[in-house]
Amino acid sequence: MEGDRRDMTTMNLPIVSSCSVDGCSYNHDHDCHAGAITVTGSAGAACGTFVHTADKGGVDAHGHVGACHRADCRHNDHLECTASGVDVGAGADPADCLTFAPA
Ligand code: SF4
Repeated sequence: MEGDRRDMTTMNLPIVSSCSVDGCSYNHDHDCHAGAITVTGSAGAACGTFVHTADKGGVDAHGHVGACHRADCRHNDHLECTASGVDVGAGADPADCLTFAPA
């Protein structure tokens, strides 16, 4: 492990507690089923994994936050999310991390 980075494994990544973006192909009944999402640093805190296709996809488990580019969020540590879970929904973008809080 390099520097003071946290020992993150996919097992202890924050879960996507809820996602209200029904139009996303990874969304099944307000649950995110992407293996791991990336939150990007656009105007809001956009879910960069949002995609709208004709088919539903994903894994048979809750989605996790794999990475987050919002270094200005109080839950962000070395570009990883330390919240226990995040909520995703419409904000400045069609799919935003609604748990974002300024540091
Ligand atoms: S709570 Fe903050 S650090 Fe966690 S995914 Fe959302 S914007 Fe990123």
